[in-house]
Amino acid sequence: MTQYDTVIIGAGMSGLAAGIRLAMFDQKVCILERHKVPGGLNSYYERQGRKLDVGLHAMTNFALRGERGRPLTKLLKQLRIPYEKLELSQQNFSRIAFPERDLSFSNDPRLLMEEVEKKFPDQKDNFTRLLDLIINFDDVNLHNKAESAKAKVREIITDERLLEMLFCPLLIYGSAWENDMDFSQFVIMFKSIYLEGFSRPQNGVRTVINLLLEKYKQSGGELRLGTGVKNIDVENGVVTGVTLDSGEKIRANKVISSIGLPETMNIASPKADAPVTGNMSFTETILFFDKKPADAGIRETIIFYNDDEKYHYQRPQTLCDYRSAVLCFPNNFGHDDYDEGIIRVTFIANFDQWNELERPTYLQMKKEVRDQALALTAKLFPQFQVNLLYHDVFTPKTITRYTGHYQGAVYGTTQKARDGRTGIRNLFICGTDQGFLGIVGAMLSGISMANLHGLMNGESA
Ligand SMILES: Cc1cc2nc3c(=O)[nH]c(=O)nc-3n(C[C@H](O)[C@H](O)[C@H](O)COP(=O)(O)OP(=O)(O)OC[C@H]3O[C@@H](n4cnc5c(N)ncnc54)[C@H](O)[C@@H]3O)c2cc1C
Repeated sequence: MTQYDTVIIGAGMSGLAAGIRLAMFDQKVCILERHKVPGGLNSYYERQGRKLDVGLHAMTNFALRGERGRPLTKLLKQLRIPYEKLELSQQNFSRIAFPERDLSFSNDPRLLMEEVEKKFPDQKDNFTRLLDLIINFDDVNLHNKAESAKAKVREIITDERLLEMLFCPLLIYGSAWENDMDFSQFVIMFKSIYLEGFSRPQNGVRTVINLLLEKYKQSGGELRLGTGVKNIDVENGVVTGVTLDSGEKIRANKVISSIGLPETMNIASPKADAPVTGNMSFTETILFFDKKPADAGIRETIIFYNDDEKYHYQRPQTLCDYRSAVLCFPNNFGHDDYDEGIIRVTFIANFDQWNELERPTYLQMKKEVRDQALALTAKLFPQFQVNLLYHDVFTPKTITRYTGHYQGAVYGTTQKARDGRTGIRNLFICGTDQGFLGIVGAMLSGISMANLHGLMNGESA
């Protein structure tokens, strides 16, 4: 039986990044991925000759080449991937659209500062104070205790309408909590979206995944696709290896799992306690048109739409909550590599409701989601007169089917294990439930957990 230094479960962004770090330092590493395609929540597929990304709206944390101290620069350095290879193009600008007013922001933080000053003049000084707090906060300290971001921000921002608007993109792009988020997570997301900003790699997420795969293989790592882990084998409180879906056993000195904390503990035998899964899931509709949004004068890259002064970031009682949405226009980055117009529309959704539907109703309801996405696009941009060429809709149930995440919970559990420890000595987690989310966050998580537990044995924890 082969004995590995480390087995990594899952070839998403975090698992691949962790694998590269360990293989680079000559560990014998194997990544086991249940699906035939790597990427996890951020994978890709092809339909009728069209290339679709599962998760990518935009990469957060934009940095210019060589910009010091930026998460993106640090992670590329750790993975030894040249910046140019990502071929990033920047967003035009994005907009938070609430009923009475909106706020635009771009990769230049001055735009948001000007917008706040113009639309909420009495909050100008408070916003500056909030920026000071954010810039000086040690958001990546693994020992930060969870605390309510809204409670802390309310001490500074005294206009609830501004507070709701500022939280909207941060919640939907990274909070496992309903209607609030952990303050450290708030700071990470605030910096990554408002101070650093959005970009898109040329050809989408394929570019990122291919770079990670190439580097992992060059470093000597082993990857087994179509290889699910059924069980993490634990003897006397120590992991000895894993048992695959096929029954094959693999031995390992350490296991790093990227599949989620509850999901990991549920396959650790004997089963161990784990926090519950979060409630937040989504539908994603991808619409292909015969015209590009820019042809109708639409320049925004992402719109965070909400039809109320309060943003209801919570599991709805119905299949979807159509009161709010994210609309992403992948054509509206500096470089457009698509032949057709594309709009992606995300709605907050309820996993249980989707999961209970019989097949015919399920398919019918997917059409309803598509129609709601089209109706919202037409409401916001009546001048965008187009023909729909192709569409796809995926639901919370699809997310669970393809990634194994319980409840279709894209942002995992509400209680993160920031130090990656599980209570079992040589079993660690990385990725979503370690607490760093999104493409850049997940890769940073993989790197930091590999460095801490794989290369330094956690002495610095
Ligand atoms: C609709 C949608 C839109 C998104 N938009 C963006 C965006 O615009 N920008 C952004 O930065 N982020 C976005 N994200 C979030 C981002 O995709 C995730 O935060 C990130 O990819 C998580 O990576 P991960 O490695 O932690 O986990 P995952 O990607 O979930 O990786 C876990 C892997 O483990 C595998 N696995 C599970 N169980 C087993 C098992 N038992 N055995 C073997 N393998 C197993 C899964 O198949 C999966 O490949 C989006 C996500 C979704 C769903």
